[in-house]
Amino acid sequence: MPDLSFEPTRGFWDAAARRELAVPRCSACDRYVWYPQPRCPGCGGSEMAWTVVSGRGTLFSWALVERALYKPFKERAPYVTGLVALEEDPVVRIVTNIVDCDPADLHMDMPVTVVFRELSLAGEEAGVVAPYFRPVSASVPGFEPQPQPQPKPGATTGEEPSR
Ligand SMILES: [Zn+2]
Repeated sequence: MPDLSFEPTRGFWDAAARRELAVPRCSACDRYVWYPQPRCPGCGGSEMAWTVVSGRGTLFSWALVERALYKPFKERAPYVTGLVALEEDPVVRIVTNIVDCDPADLHMDMPVTVVFRELSLAGEEAGVVAPYFRPVSASVPGFEPQPQPQPKPGATTGEEPSR
């Protein structure tokens, strides 16, 4: 489980509990600073403000975890860990899980959006809300996008494929 009281990332988890995605932003130069650090790499400023971002981004990289090494995650495998580049500043890349999609459908720069899920690990109390990302096309929970009917090549007789 994440350590919610760890000061540098506390604002991240506080925001997640409100179902918001927040990233520290330098008060002096407006640069997003991620991973949280005491000084802005841009201007050296030390005043950061947790800033809510859109939750939109693109998939930078990902990995399918078929066998989790960390015991409480074993029941969740297979799952996809990924790096999401935020729309506000693609240099800001959040480590997350990619959910609600077939790993085979993932591709570089795929538009994704944040979704909040309660973490529940075997043997642990639930109640921690974590930001995950899913493809923008995945739409709302419980709704599975229907595959688009494709005209069959070579099918010269019969009906038009219904749309
Ligand atoms: Zn700065």
